[in-house]
Amino acid sequence: MADKRDYYEVLGVGKNATDSEIKSAYRKLAKKYHPDLNPGDKEAEEKFKEVNEANDVLSDPEKRKRYDQFGFAGVDPNYAAGQGAGAGGFGGGFGGVDLGDIFGDIFGGSFGGGFGGFGGSRANPNAPRKGHDIQASVILTFEEAAHGCSKTVTINRQETCRDCGGSGAEHGTSPETCPHCGGRGYVVTQQRTPFGVMQSQQPCSYCGGRGTIIKNPCHTCRGTGKTGSRKTLEVRIPAGIDDDQNIALRGQGDAGTNGGPAGDVIVHVTVKPDPVFERDGFDVWVHEPVTFSQAVLGAEITVPTVDGKVAYRIPEGTQSGTKFRLRGKGIQYLNGRGRGDQYVVVDVEIPKKLTKAQRDALKNFEDSLRDENYEKRKGFFKNLKDRFM
Ligand SMILES: [Zn+2]
Ligand SMILES: [Zn+2]
Repeated sequence: MADKRDYYEVLGVGKNATDSEIKSAYRKLAKKYHPDLNPGDKEAEEKFKEVNEANDVLSDPEKRKRYDQFGFAGVDPNYAAGQGAGAGGFGGGFGGVDLGDIFGDIFGGSFGGGFGGFGGSRANPNAPRKGHDIQASVILTFEEAAHGCSKTVTINRQETCRDCGGSGAEHGTSPETCPHCGGRGYVVTQQRTPFGVMQSQQPCSYCGGRGTIIKNPCHTCRGTGKTGSRKTLEVRIPAGIDDDQNIALRGQGDAGTNGGPAGDVIVHVTVKPDPVFERDGFDVWVHEPVTFSQAVLGAEITVPTVDGKVAYRIPEGTQSGTKFRLRGKGIQYLNGRGRGDQYVVVDVEIPKKLTKAQRDALKNFEDSLRDENYEKRKGFFKNLKDRFM
């Protein structure tokens, strides 16, 4: 690597950085670029190697001294040849990276055991892994979403096998040390090159990198350590949930591997459209038809709300499309106190299919009206006259 970066630069610390500064810079970067957190990201993988290599040297007082004095040549015998080896050939991999140290605070658990070599992008098969999340769904009515409710979902999940406790080995037996790699999970190969001997590590193909072999697989799980199980779970739906939102049931998904945490059940919520209530965030809209004479004379109308019916007085001369607000009568906020509002839009319904007598009565009524009765109409025609006549 001709463009190998200075180790201090890699960790972003000064030449006089203290051990604890180096350690903290390393932890930060190792987390950022860890392959498990950046799956499939080649650049992150390279950075992760670079960071580990820099830390390997700078965290060791002896190596750091040699590096300060001689540069890369002081710590990497291959580098003297001019090209230097790739990170894979450097000091035999990252056997010393203590993941428990780096990740203890992310997963809140202890990562037992060291980390046996880093075979490229391949993850350590013994590393704790979180179980898969499982998708489920519920359909709610408007009321159920507004008030909250309890629903059940039935899922199929992978649970840790009870008979073997997840080890995969038949009851009374335990996994044995792999004879091929001596339990290390990797094999070291040496290769002679014009630049010297290069060492590289490969995951042990015999045990799949686990370091252990199961001679007598558990009869219940056939050695997988997990069994399928059908479960019905209760889902508490909080008041205020809306269409297309998710609720996570933490730790109810597939069991983790190697002591990792279980996945979650992600419950997707669909709220059915309601014929009366329309929702906009935490506000509720209702379109309420009123009669012609209710609008003209004013009336007490009955308005449906989330909490039931309420009486509302519309004033005399209410126009169609008028919007009223019922403050605090909307939906309960999902995560906190308070509620949205309800809006009532009044739609004046024009009567149809009138009888002769009704028509005559209406005609008489209309004839009795004067311009002053029609505010808008008066203004409109005045406008027309000013413009065209
Ligand atoms: Zn089992
Ligand atoms: Zn092996």
